[in-house]
Amino acid sequence: MRQVDAAKGHRVAASAVFMDTLVSIEVIDPVSDDECRDHIEAAFGWFREVERQCSRFDVDSDLSRLSATPVGQPARTTPLVFRLVEFALAVADASGGAFDPTVGRLMEVSGFDRNFRTGEQVQGRADVASDCSYRDVRIAPDPDTVTLLRPLVLDLGAVAKGFAIDLAAEALDPYPNYAINAGGDVFVRGRNSLHALWRIGIRHPRDDESLIDVLQVSDRAVCTSGDYERQRPDGNRGHHIIAPGKGASAAGTASVTVVAPSAMVADALSTAAFVMPPERAIDFLERQGVEGLIVSPDLVRHETPGMAEYRLGALV
Ligand code: AMP
Ligand code: MG
Repeated sequence: MRQVDAAKGHRVAASAVFMDTLVSIEVIDPVSDDECRDHIEAAFGWFREVERQCSRFDVDSDLSRLSATPVGQPARTTPLVFRLVEFALAVADASGGAFDPTVGRLMEVSGFDRNFRTGEQVQGRADVASDCSYRDVRIAPDPDTVTLLRPLVLDLGAVAKGFAIDLAAEALDPYPNYAINAGGDVFVRGRNSLHALWRIGIRHPRDDESLIDVLQVSDRAVCTSGDYERQRPDGNRGHHIIAPGKGASAAGTASVTVVAPSAMVADALSTAAFVMPPERAIDFLERQGVEGLIVSPDLVRHETPGMAEYRLGALV
C-alpha cells in the first residue's frame, strides 16, 4: 500500500458533505500541508456559503426570502445570489426556456419539498401558477435587486453546485494542480499525481458500476446531469429535471455531460441541454462554445465535434 502511495506522489486530500453531495478536494504536491489544509477548508467554506444563501429548502436563505417577497416589490440580494440569478436568467433566455430557475413550485409538487439535511418539509406555495416562468423575473444592479412580476418559487439547484465549485477553485488559486469533485461534477487544474492529465470517468446512465466514457482534461469543469440522480419522491415515475412547459420530468435523455472552462457554465448547460431533444441540445451546446456528450435512454450517443479531443487516448 505504501509503495502505491509513494508512486502516486504527495498530495493532500479531504472530503465533506455539502448540498447533499460528497465533495472531495485533492491538491497535488503542496509546499506546506498545513497551509494547504487551510486553503481546502476555505474552499469547502464556499460550498457551505452557497448552500446557506441559495437553498430553496431553508426559509431563512436569501433565495427563499426573494421568493417570499411580494410581487412587484424589488428585493435586495446578496452579490452571490444576484450573480446566480442573473446567470440563470441568461441561460433561460439562451435556451428558450428549457432551462428555467422558476421551476421551484414544479419541484415542490413533484415531491422535492424536503430539506436534505434536516428532513423538514418546506411550506408549499399554492399561490404559484403552473405557467409562471423566468420571464416573470426582473433584475437590476447597483443596488442588486430582484423583482418578481408574479408569485413564484426560485430554484437554483441546476447551477449552485457549479458556482460553488468555481468559488472553491478560486480559493485554491495558489495551487497549480488540484481536483474538486462534487458528486461527479468536477473541476480539475493542471496535472494529477502521476503528472498526467486528469482522467474523468463518466457514469453509465443505466449501470452505476460502469463508465460510459473516460475523458482526459485539464483546466476544465466536467458536469453531468442524469435521470438516475434523484427519483421523484412522491411515488410517481420521474426524476428531478423538469421540462418547464410540460411540468413533468424531461424525457428523451438519460444523461448529458458538458465540458467547459467554468463549472457554473458546465452545470447550467448540462441541465439546459437535458431538457431539449438531443439534436437540438448538441446545436445549443455548440452555439454556447462548450463540448457535450448526450446519452439517450436507449443508449444512443450524440456529441459535439470537439468532444473527441477529450477522449482517453486522443491527447498526448
Ligand atoms: P442538475 O442535477 O445540475 O441537472 O440540476 C437539477 C436541479 O435543477 C433540480 O434538482 C432542480 O433543482 C433544478 N431544475 C430542474 N429542472 C430544471 C429546469 N428545467 N431548469 C432549471 N433548473 C431545473
Ligand atoms: Mg446542472
